[in-house]
Amino acid sequence: MTNKINIDETISWQEITPGGNVCASGNSEEFHTGDWRTIKPVFIADKCNQCLLCAPVCPDLAIPVKDGKRGDFIYEYCKGCGICAKVCPVKAIEMKADN
Ligand code: SF4
Ligand code: SF4
Repeated sequence: MTNKINIDETISWQEITPGGNVCASGNSEEFHTGDWRTIKPVFIADKCNQCLLCAPVCPDLAIPVKDGKRGDFIYEYCKGCGICAKVCPVKAIEMKADN
């Protein structure tokens, strides 16, 4: 079974893994999961205390951390799951409709 393949409009069904499973690890950067989103998190920087609880629970690469501080969301990768908003202790993340 192939561990790393490029999934795009040129791929044939024979090349896709059974069930479309992603078997390789560390490859979130290759998948722009923001295409799936119907709601999106909005970062309210004024409320954020930089506790960094949100960044490790994000299943994608949507919460950048640099020099010990989180930045604004990278929507290209955010699928709108809302986990980050659930764990934020100070409600610095609000989920809103993504039109
Ligand atoms: S909504 Fe989900 S995917 Fe988007 S930043 Fe929050 S945890 Fe990550
Ligand atoms: S969990 Fe909330 S307060 Fe903590 S870094 Fe993330 S947005 Fe900021």
